[in-house]
Amino acid sequence: MYEFTDKVLAHLNRQYIVIFNRLKSKVSTKKFAKLDEVTVIGKAVDQTYTELMTVTKPMLLQIANWAYHNYCTNGSLTEMWLTGFLNDYSPVTKYAFSTEIDRKRSRLYEALIATKGSRKEIDNALRYWAKMIAEYAVEITDAATLEAFNDLGITKVEWFTEEDERVCGECGKRHGRIYPIDAVPPKPHWGCRCYLRPVTTE
Ligand SMILES: [Zn+2]
Repeated sequence: MYEFTDKVLAHLNRQYIVIFNRLKSKVSTKKFAKLDEVTVIGKAVDQTYTELMTVTKPMLLQIANWAYHNYCTNGSLTEMWLTGFLNDYSPVTKYAFSTEIDRKRSRLYEALIATKGSRKEIDNALRYWAKMIAEYAVEITDAATLEAFNDLGITKVEWFTEEDERVCGECGKRHGRIYPIDAVPPKPHWGCRCYLRPVTTE
């Protein structure tokens, strides 16, 4: 279910390390005078998040279309579909992706000003970023799959857990349950890798 998603994530994570390393070299305190600190850090942080989005968005769209085409080979999901998804509140992360990016950017900026460009803060920001993208990559896989089911006229889906020892109690209870496609409950926790399959009555 998530093989392609995981491949893309591994590829993205390598790029994220490069992008955050570039930020480290830009904000290393020896490089600029005290007065310029705020401007240099502000610009460097802005550039970092712009770059992160530039490399991430097309890959998220690829994940969406890979998942969609797994079931439905007619048509594809557009950038507008993805943007709409990222602007929506997620009941799993408890925020909308688009607004969270601004928050992450501000938090890192403030932390770097307060710590005079601490590398540890940059490492933390990288970790939080990668964690968020890992979650959204899964959510996008799920949403695109549901989109394909809808387009195929499927009305009922069955919940599957990964059936390994890591499955939590809440997910375990849902294994094998059948839901109307418009009433599938949100995943109960971050990192949930349960998935849905269409139920055909014939
Ligand atoms: Zn689960």
